[in-house]
Amino acid sequence: MSQERVEVIVVGAGPAGVATALTLARAGVEVIVLERGAYPGAKNVMGGILYRQPTEELVPEFWRVAPLERAIIEQRYLLLTGEDAIGLSYRTPTFGQPPYNAFSVLRAEWDRWFAEQAEAAGALIATGVTVEDLLWEDGRIVGVRAGEQGELYANVVVLAEGANALLVQKAGLARDWQPDEQALVAKELLRLPVQEIERRFNVSAGEGVAIEAFGASTGGLLGYGFIYTNRETLSIGTGALLSDLIAHEVNVSDLLERFKRHPAIAPLLEGAELVEYSAHLIPEGGWRAMPALFADGVLVVGDAAGFVNPLSREGSNFAMISGKLAAETILEARAAGDYSVHALSRYWEKLEESFIHPDLEAIRNVTPFVHARPYLLRDYPQALARAFRQYLTVDGTPKAIKYRRIGWKLFADLDPMRLLRDVVCAAWHVLR
Ligand code: FAD
Repeated sequence: MSQERVEVIVVGAGPAGVATALTLARAGVEVIVLERGAYPGAKNVMGGILYRQPTEELVPEFWRVAPLERAIIEQRYLLLTGEDAIGLSYRTPTFGQPPYNAFSVLRAEWDRWFAEQAEAAGALIATGVTVEDLLWEDGRIVGVRAGEQGELYANVVVLAEGANALLVQKAGLARDWQPDEQALVAKELLRLPVQEIERRFNVSAGEGVAIEAFGASTGGLLGYGFIYTNRETLSIGTGALLSDLIAHEVNVSDLLERFKRHPAIAPLLEGAELVEYSAHLIPEGGWRAMPALFADGVLVVGDAAGFVNPLSREGSNFAMISGKLAAETILEARAAGDYSVHALSRYWEKLEESFIHPDLEAIRNVTPFVHARPYLLRDYPQALARAFRQYLTVDGTPKAIKYRRIGWKLFADLDPMRLLRDVVCAAWHVLR
């Protein structure tokens, strides 16, 4: 591809890059996606839950034909201590019927299929190509350099390279990311017979469960463990902020092993066979760590832009919708024949009009708030588990005495003044 030219180059064939290319190709734009993996999805890691509504903005009724694992009909939240588990769950058959709400997917299969939709629309997807650098002319980005494959020029380069975002830094749009701005997650894919999965998780064929576990699942660090049911595998993982893993000298693989051995988790995994292990970063710096999202000749989408909502486990939808909005920005710029920073700044307005900007702004203080209060995921689960155990233990103690004891113990454990301060602080910083 030495010294060739296309209208738009997209770096990365994850959900963000492919959504950009799909939208552009449908509008007749000459677009190429450069992907370092052997195929789209080869390098990608996700739990992963894919959301129906945002995906349908790209491919209506994709659920009729796409490679999906199970429709998620139940969400369970667990608060774990060393041995105990407190749970809350929501289940509805509605989520198991068209048009559905969310699906478990395997990224290697989903990304490949999604990329095929972009190819069918006219996008070119070049795999095994690692973009090493950006090309500049008069202070604007005009293309990319990809080692032996040479140089490629374009009107716009879209950076959809995921969490590491090395090219975003090279473009001068971001500083180096800090360890407290990325979570490191270890994930395994475990094989179990289909009937075993359906029996253990109490679901019928095609239905699935998503579990998120806080507290001991991360050794009390800020983060969570997860289990998602696939057709004949389970996705299980856990992780925490990189800075905390370093500070506490915790290895994320050890954390995952401990999570798998927890008495509330181990029976779900018994006899499962390891198919795949991976570890990956999730950008969790949010609003504060967001890079500049556009400059002359360049736009940033998906994880590379830090578009993740760790509170609600959303990333793939931010990636796809930001890709779509970036493509729509490019179409406007193309119509005006102007790819300057001024023209591409429309991207920001589109983000503001979508859920992306409001959602990221709304949660901007949550991570710092919880991070500054390590007792929330360490001491509180223990206090609550103790209270539940006492409440449920039938030991001949008159109930009035028992409830008073539980109340006083909780009062002492939770430190009401601190709790009150936290509630006020949460209302002030987090919710405003
Ligand atoms: P990616 O999917 O990371 O894709 C980037 C692509 O760019 C990759 O294919 C990579 O190979 C390629 N690339 C990188 N650098 C170069 C280069 N220099 N040259 C060429 N190609 C390059 N989100 C959800 O919505 N639901 C979930 O349940 C969920 N679970 C998750 C669990 C884990 C363990 C992790 C790590 C993430 C999870 N996420 C989840 C987040 C979600 O995976 C991401 O938000 C989403 O994949 C971001 O898409 P993207 O296209 O921006 O980046």
